[in-house]
Amino acid sequence: MDTATTIAWITRAAELVRADESRLTALDAAIGDGDHGANLARGLAAAVTAMGEKEPESPGKALIAAGRGLVAKTGGASGPLYGTGFRRAGKELGDGGDVGQVGAALEAMLRGIEELGGATQGDKTIIDALAPAVVAFQEAAGNGSDLHAAAEAAADAADAGLAATVPLQARKGRASYLGPRSVGHEDPGAASTALILRALADVTAP
Ligand code: ADP
Ligand code: MG
Ligand code: MG
Repeated sequence: MDTATTIAWITRAAELVRADESRLTALDAAIGDGDHGANLARGLAAAVTAMGEKEPESPGKALIAAGRGLVAKTGGASGPLYGTGFRRAGKELGDGGDVGQVGAALEAMLRGIEELGGATQGDKTIIDALAPAVVAFQEAAGNGSDLHAAAEAAADAADAGLAATVPLQARKGRASYLGPRSVGHEDPGAASTALILRALADVTAP
């Protein structure tokens, strides 16, 4: 994973979120306050801008800049969560490296978001897409997959994790205020996480 690929990843994530902004907003309107699409589209645009301000010296520094941009411009719960996640991933990624190093960076992202938000799998949050994605990525990497194949496995696992949020009752974030009425909908944050992982698979395609 080099600096150009890292910048391409976040740029692609910004594109995918912007293209699906109204879907993310509709999901958040059902169980939250209807701003997730706009929040994250604005935040990821700021992340791309932040990466372009000063040529990042390494893949890790690119992700740290992206995290800084996200925190500065994303409203709501998801800004600090994703911002922390990207900065922690960047610290772990450092000068980049092989598929195993990218797996460690994704795991650092997961741990950062877990520590800040206090959610675990099953709470109907970002974690429900990200945790299975990290497991799938590391399993694929351990079986000799290259970066693209591991990222595809992660993105597919995130999609499955997103689908699995439908029957869950939210236990964290704004959706938890709805209690049992949060059941029957996809979680917006899990949906955006699935797009962010799909973006990594897209930009690593041969
Ligand atoms: P807000 O709820 O403040 O309007 P957003 O709409 O941008 O923020 O983001 C909502 C998403 O944030 C939720 O769908 C959920 O996935 C995620 N989220 C909320 N709280 C947490 C948490 N404690 N840990 C992980 N993810 C969370
Ligand atoms: Mg919201
Ligand atoms: Mg909000």
